[in-house]
This record gives sequence, C-alpha cells and structure tokens, in this order.
Amino acid sequence: MIFDTLVVGALESNCYVLADDGPEALVIDPGGDASRIIGHLDAKGLEAVSLVNTHGHADHIAGNAELRKRYPDMTIAIGRDDAKALRSPLRNMSLFIARLVKSPPADRLLDDGDVVEFGRWRFRVLATPGHTPGGICLFSEDLDPSGTPLLVPMDSESASRPDGLGVRGKGKTRRRLDPEWVSGSQRGGRGGGGPRPVLFSGDTLFADSVGRTDIPGGSWDDLIRGIRQKIFVLPDETEVYPGHGPATTVAHEKKFNPFAGEQAE
Ligand SMILES: [Zn+2]
Repeated sequence: MIFDTLVVGALESNCYVLADDGPEALVIDPGGDASRIIGHLDAKGLEAVSLVNTHGHADHIAGNAELRKRYPDMTIAIGRDDAKALRSPLRNMSLFIARLVKSPPADRLLDDGDVVEFGRWRFRVLATPGHTPGGICLFSEDLDPSGTPLLVPMDSESASRPDGLGVRGKGKTRRRLDPEWVSGSQRGGRGGGGPRPVLFSGDTLFADSVGRTDIPGGSWDDLIRGIRQKIFVLPDETEVYPGHGPATTVAHEKKFNPFAGEQAE
C-alpha cells in the first residue's frame, strides 16, 4: 500500500496519504501546501476520493478547498462538533494566524464508534475531545505502513513548537523516543512489513506530548481522559501517527508520556 507523510504548512502539520492498489487515495489533514499535496498525488497516479480532518483547526484543514476544487467528488469528513470550524475562520483559528481559511462543508459528520471505510480498510472513529470539541482519532487494525517515506527529514523540534496550534508548550515536553525505532519507522517500521494496528491521533496525542487545551473549546480533563480510556486501551504495538512531529507507539506513550502516561501526576 501507499502510506506517505507530507509535512505541510507553516505549522508543519502531518498530512497522510493512503492508497491501496487503485488510484483512489484517502487524505488525512491536508493542512496547507495543497498544490504540493496535489503534485504528490499526481506523481503517484492517485486521486483523492476521501478526505478526513482529525479536527477543525486551520493547520489541518487549510488545503480542503483546493483539494475539493481538484477532486470535485471527494468527500470531506470531520468530527461532528468541529464541523462548524470548517466554515468559520474564528473557530478554525485562521483569523489569528495568517490567511483566512474556509473549507467546503463536511459531507459526513463523524461520531464515536463510526467506521470510515476506505478500500479494504476500516477505520474506527474514536471521539477524543479536549484539543477541540470534535477532535477524533482514526484506528485501523491492519494497515501496512511499510516503506512509508517521510517526505521531509524528521524534525525533532517540530513536535514541540511553542507557537503552533497543536502541541502543548515546550516547557514540559520531554523527548524519549527510541532513536532506533524512529529510524526504523523511516525505513519501514519496527518489526518489518506486514499489517499492524495504526492510529492517526490528530492533535490529541503526540510523541511525548499531548495537544494544547488552552485554545477556545479545549478541555484538559477531556483530553487526558480520552487518551487514557480510548487510546491507551489499544494494542501496545499500535503505531501512532500524530498531527505534528514523529510517529510513536501506544506502548511508548503509556509508559513515558509526561502528561498522560504512567509517570504523569
Ligand atoms: Zn489543532
């Protein structure tokens, strides 16, 4: 399968492009640089048929409109309580950063437990409010991220930019990623190829950090509860692909995450 990560926009959001054998692609969080995303799809002979936003912040939805223009039949899905942010520069925070961002409205509103089907894969929707009211994660039991190239070098600082919309401030973040796993992931993941559980965690959970909750609509208690009750119950080996920064695993975050893990107060 194709499983690519593009780091897009000024806030360095991770945009994920998935495809199976055919030309149909699923795009998660085209948060900027839409023409580069489209160029990437073109180069691989892909067409976006499905777009999912993990939440409604500008740095995750800024490319929606341009992608829809290019792929008029592409559906847009987002968590129900973030749907209004697609249309509102105030709610999606673009009013406060650079250019005003407006997306076409959602075709599908996602609730906890919903299933997003794409090709032969099924993604379970986990509602994880806290960073935003309608934030979601997508979980698949059997994706195969082997060979996924990260299209820009992994930048260990990008996950903890204090000025971004996503990650909780730098002060408390600590990075304890196993460097072998990080480079293994760049090459094709720990344990070689083959289907394995994968979570797209948006701005809910990051490698050694969690999403900011100081933006309007945020809730620290909801965020931590969601991470513990919905993400930390997934299989330990689940690979976690966040909205910013490098990938991690459920096992690593359960143990080491300074905000939600075993050692958090
Ligand atoms: Zn965000």
